[in-house]
Amino acid sequence: MYWKKRSHEQVKEYIFKALDQNLDYRGDRPILGIPGTYLDTTEFYPDAPFLKDAPFMSAMVRNPNHIGVHTLSEDSVLEVFEGTQKIEKELVKLVAEEIFNGDVDHQDGYVATGGTEANIQAMWIYRNYFRNKFGARLGEIGVVYSQDSHYSMPKGANILNLTNIILEVDSETREIKKESLEQKIKEATQDGIKYFIVIANLSTTMFGSVDDIDMLGDYFTKLNVQFKIHVDAAYGGFIYPFTNTTSRFTFQNPYMNSITADGHKMLQTPYGTGLFLIRKGYFDFVKTEEAQYIPGKDFTISGSRSGANAISMWMILQIHGSEGWKYKMETLCDKTERICKKLERMGVEYFRNPHLNIIAIKAKYMSKELANKYYLVADSYEFEPEWFKIVVMPHVKQGTIDAFLMDLDSELRGRK
Ligand SMILES: *Cc1c(COP(=O)(O)O)cnc(C)c1O
Repeated sequence: MYWKKRSHEQVKEYIFKALDQNLDYRGDRPILGIPGTYLDTTEFYPDAPFLKDAPFMSAMVRNPNHIGVHTLSEDSVLEVFEGTQKIEKELVKLVAEEIFNGDVDHQDGYVATGGTEANIQAMWIYRNYFRNKFGARLGEIGVVYSQDSHYSMPKGANILNLTNIILEVDSETREIKKESLEQKIKEATQDGIKYFIVIANLSTTMFGSVDDIDMLGDYFTKLNVQFKIHVDAAYGGFIYPFTNTTSRFTFQNPYMNSITADGHKMLQTPYGTGLFLIRKGYFDFVKTEEAQYIPGKDFTISGSRSGANAISMWMILQIHGSEGWKYKMETLCDKTERICKKLERMGVEYFRNPHLNIIAIKAKYMSKELANKYYLVADSYEFEPEWFKIVVMPHVKQGTIDAFLMDLDSELRGRK
């Protein structure tokens, strides 16, 4: 993995050049047929002086539409926004090839609204793949995921009419239990499920636990059934590959067919930046032929979407370079490690994956008041919580961590 960092000036110049390659609604070209325009000028006036130094804000105000998928062909989907669509294409290439080690030009992708959409996009593609390629009926397709998975899985299964197959995890290690996998798949098979959309988590939201993609892939391969694995790295996608150099979550692993990696979690981009990546050859299963007025057709759930989102992801990756981002993510992991060591000394039990910045602490070690004071998140707001989690995000100051640990320590001493 390597890409060079660019200076703010270089990033700025690159984005403004791309914006100039788009047709400007304010420019000389006669744009008569497009149902889009610049932002309302009463509030978003284009001559605000700061805009000339603010490429992202300028992109917002110019309002390019990135509808469709831009990696599918050399032609742009909407020629009017060719300049910034090229940046999205470069972003997909960079993340797929540098961060997830894909072969050159072997992946497609787009910037979805978020992890939810990207996960559902994957499920949608595989559902149609099984139907079109193998004649699968709806009742024969299941979505397999652990109980710690994000709720976008049942949401997607609901929308797409798929059967949920939920696997139990070990209460301590948060690993998928092999017995549960065998049992649940056996039951599903008896119920007529023949095709499996398998989700492997590259960091669950609550625990930062990481599923064993090879165990899952080997299991379904041995079973000799049709399956596809989608990786949900909505949370972990922009940290784990940087902190674990032997990650199995790369396109070199044949089991990984597609992946979700949110910008708006660890990459600190604005909301609306859920990157979806998939091996080439799969987007066609969700081609909407009826999208007649879009020259390149549409393959996404979302339709119109802001080009500024893709630009924001590209900018952040460029300003840091791979080395800079790696340093930043390693620093978060070091900070997390330090908290873990303190917890151990205090005799507090927790779960943590060493390559991630999430610590799930057993709820019995602290009062709800303490958890609330530091905005820790509980595993359930409906039932009695079993875990409270800390997420060591970039805004978390060492002083806050120290204060929390001191409060926890005095609570525990008070109990004795
Ligand atoms: C946040 C998250 C999602 C959903 O992402 P949104 O961007 O909120 O739609 C999916 N999976 C995991 C593991 C997440 O952490």
